[in-house]
Amino acid sequence: MFLSSRNITKTSQQGAFMSSKTLKAYRSRLRDALQESFQRKALDNFTTAYRQGREKNFSGIDLPQLVETISALKDDASGRLMELLADFREAAQAKGVQVHLAGTAREANDLVERIASENGCSRVVKSKSMTAEEIHLNDHLENAGLEVVETDLGEWIIQLREEGPSHMVMPAIHLSRDEVSRLFTQVTGREQDKDIENLVKVARRELRQRFADADMGITGANFALADTGSLGIVSNEGNARLVSTLPKVHVAIAGLDKLIPGMEEALTILRGLPRNATGQAITSYVSWITGATECQANEDGRKVIHVIFLDNGRRALAEDPLFSQALRCVRCGACANVCPVYRLVGGHQYGYIYIGAIGLVLTYFMHGRDKDRDLIQNCLNCQACREVCIAGIDLPRLISGVRAAITEQEGRPWINSTASALLTHRKLFHSCLKAARFAQKPATRQGYLRHLPLALLGDIGNKELPALAAQPFRNRYRKEAYADALPAPRYTVAVFSGCLQDFVYPEQLMAGLDILQQENVAVHFPKEQGCCGLPLDMLGEPGAAAEVAAHNLSALDPADYDYILVFCASCGSHLKNYPRLLGSGSGISAKARQFADRVIDFSSFLDRVLEYQPQGGESARTAYHAPCHLCRGMEVRETPRSLLHKAGLEYVPNQEEETCCGLGGTYSVKFPEISREIIDKKLELWRGHDVEQVVTDCPGCILQIRGSAKMRGDTFRVVHTAEVLGETSLK
Ligand code: SF4
Ligand code: SF4
Repeated sequence: MFLSSRNITKTSQQGAFMSSKTLKAYRSRLRDALQESFQRKALDNFTTAYRQGREKNFSGIDLPQLVETISALKDDASGRLMELLADFREAAQAKGVQVHLAGTAREANDLVERIASENGCSRVVKSKSMTAEEIHLNDHLENAGLEVVETDLGEWIIQLREEGPSHMVMPAIHLSRDEVSRLFTQVTGREQDKDIENLVKVARRELRQRFADADMGITGANFALADTGSLGIVSNEGNARLVSTLPKVHVAIAGLDKLIPGMEEALTILRGLPRNATGQAITSYVSWITGATECQANEDGRKVIHVIFLDNGRRALAEDPLFSQALRCVRCGACANVCPVYRLVGGHQYGYIYIGAIGLVLTYFMHGRDKDRDLIQNCLNCQACREVCIAGIDLPRLISGVRAAITEQEGRPWINSTASALLTHRKLFHSCLKAARFAQKPATRQGYLRHLPLALLGDIGNKELPALAAQPFRNRYRKEAYADALPAPRYTVAVFSGCLQDFVYPEQLMAGLDILQQENVAVHFPKEQGCCGLPLDMLGEPGAAAEVAAHNLSALDPADYDYILVFCASCGSHLKNYPRLLGSGSGISAKARQFADRVIDFSSFLDRVLEYQPQGGESARTAYHAPCHLCRGMEVRETPRSLLHKAGLEYVPNQEEETCCGLGGTYSVKFPEISREIIDKKLELWRGHDVEQVVTDCPGCILQIRGSAKMRGDTFRVVHTAEVLGETSLK
């Protein structure tokens, strides 16, 4: 990733220090955002309605195919931006449109100002444009003495409030009708009621005259068609049509990434864009502008049209093997719609200009690392954004790439160096755990750490923390019983234990091994294996993560086993990433592929490979929590639920089953206030459903759910699928 070190000077420890100071301030803003009850309710309601609308409107469409097509066509376009620009320029200029390329935000702003001055414009109306937001165009024009009025209802409201958008598609989603009616009362000088229809009428009345008076209209563009030199603008309010037609001058500002070959590609994107953005089948208006039309206000009787393409780092981004994906973005905003963090704190705290997962990435490239340093930490790696992205962008991977770049540029915080030093030296790490096991004894009661001073725990003291197990799995595993005792096994597998199950929850693995023994599966446990490396990847330490991966490949040769079995979804999904981490050029890439191919989660192994039929046990009201790294990371969804059903348990579904539990590895330590809110919502739902147990497939989720439930006095138990199946099947 050559962009990662562009124009950056190392500030080493100073950077790390600055980071912790600004992170504190950011966390304080997050806490304030959590108090905004209207915003939270609005985002909650929207999230639910969005999921349903999206599902309904994509039914009958081959979504994976559509994602693949959009991703391929956007990649093709970003691979030849300058060629498409040349074609666009030729076609548009032939139809009387002037085309410009602005290298930077400053150049783009100056161009608009110059066009206004050359054409004697002083009153500007604007329709919604994220590119204009990106360059802070309004501020620039207002400083130059022009009057600028936003005409999209949401944008107008936030302009009056002097704030930025809180969503890329619905900029004022954070505001209640009360707040809008108070604002409109102030603006009009007349008391306005809270009726939404009335508020819309007020806006229409106020804006109508502005349209009539304006001499320049500024729009963005969703598409720039290279073959015809046409612009495509998608909107829900129709204001973009008035902005682009009424004033004598029209300026369209578009990122270079809006260039595509032609209408066919635009229509393909349009099949996905509104459905993914707001869960609606189509927007109210899609406008196509080709060439300068008649305009009596200008001397030559033709409309003045300028199209400004903005580079602002896009050409460099297009060259980057990893981050070029970001240019596929069609600005649908869906990666915010599904993000559990955005849902809690809204766009003002979850983006700079661009919001949501893509905002975390673009902020770094377009607005600099100072604006992104803390923001980029605020991600649970839940992968909901990757799954929903209509352009197939691997957003979590880009987020961890930016994090790694910032770490590289600023120097590593102590937590990174400590984690890297420990996890890349298995023996040292395991010796530390052994020492900790003895040291914790006085503070341990019934499997939990007790009496830890609050000063030590700080904000993370919102859940009970498990103690290290008296005996780790590696000491409990007996090869003679689980492998040698089976002379003609159906399968020979290696178990990858992961740190949490090895040292904290060995009983989960033991329960699974007992089932496998009964099913005549030989289970080996190569003891040289270490941590899977996911925590390092999340900390932005890809080098150390790759070192750990290489170590595990040497400890566990995939050729020796039919499968590599995981009981931890996070480990499993990370092990599947080994080929990417180790790279295609490395000597062990073939082995890494074989390793990844053989990794399988416990439920899938039972159900798909062994065709396991659990014995029916006692029925209990059972909720399921789908770990992010299982349902999205490994794309295993129905299997665990089906096993619970076959085991005779009363499965109690709920709509938030696939929402992250809020742990996110070190996330819950960095952002405990967000982590707590996320898990509290889930606990509340389970309480409401009167469940007796919550079953899941990831020890990390168990740590978060069980510890939080215990601290809040919940009585339901929290167990791993292997444990619950073991109880019903092995009586
Ligand atoms: S990254 Fe994907 S989901 Fe997010 S706004 Fe862009 S296209 Fe939409
Ligand atoms: S991975 Fe999850 S938490 Fe992170 S940006 Fe994506 S949706 Fe949000």
